[in-house]
Amino acid sequence: MIRKKLIAGNWKMNCLSKDGTALAQAIATEVKANKFNCDFLICPPFTLLGLIKKCLRGSKIALGSQDVHFAEKGAHTGDISPLMLTDLGCGYAIIGHSERRVDHFESNELVCKKAVAAHNAGLNTVICIGESEKEREAGETIKVCQSQIEGSVPNDATAKNTVIAYEPIWAIGTGKTPTSADVQEVHAAIRKALAKKLGTAVANRMRILYGGSVKPNNAAELLSLPDVDGALIGGASLKADDFINIAKNVCK
Ligand code: PEP
Repeated sequence: MIRKKLIAGNWKMNCLSKDGTALAQAIATEVKANKFNCDFLICPPFTLLGLIKKCLRGSKIALGSQDVHFAEKGAHTGDISPLMLTDLGCGYAIIGHSERRVDHFESNELVCKKAVAAHNAGLNTVICIGESEKEREAGETIKVCQSQIEGSVPNDATAKNTVIAYEPIWAIGTGKTPTSADVQEVHAAIRKALAKKLGTAVANRMRILYGGSVKPNNAAELLSLPDVDGALIGGASLKADDFINIAKNVCK
């Protein structure tokens, strides 16, 4: 069973043209110079997608958005459709990040609807799930993740068009991470939930990323776990050296 690791950067609401260009160019140069045995994805803010696409040319780094609307076009002020993203050269869209679930009240149902629309337009999706601190303390982590998989992942999901990102909310941007044993336990449970929904063959091939304070010094351990197939990286993806050092520690 081969699941090629995916190293994905989520720039969130950071970078203007100048620093975004410098960051993307520095990452692209390193990725071209090293023969990493993994896939790469960079998700800048919407405003930089066109510019960063040019910086990544010839680098084999995929470009993704941080969200997408479910409609093809129409009266949705401020939103971006899947076709607008493919038109810009995006191959991926992150969907259901906890910052959207919390700040924009996005439900599992909405996340699922967005994923279907993205897939129909030819985009791959990174569907994010993960428990809050309160849920973890109440011992509900696995139950929460199972129900997010059930509600957010569409029935048309395949190992090719869908990547799952498990991101405990309390670990995002905090410097805290679960123990390796905890991460493996949750990832194995997520794969089991995927098997229930999509069948074992699809579940065994689908990549499940870990996200939440991944840094160069903890990436090797986290990404060596049997059910961890890459990382979704926030803060450390904003420093070219950190992002590349994560790849160097994981994808040699
Ligand atoms: C994220 O928000 O997707 C994330 C994992 O952030 P950080 O790496 O900064 O914790």
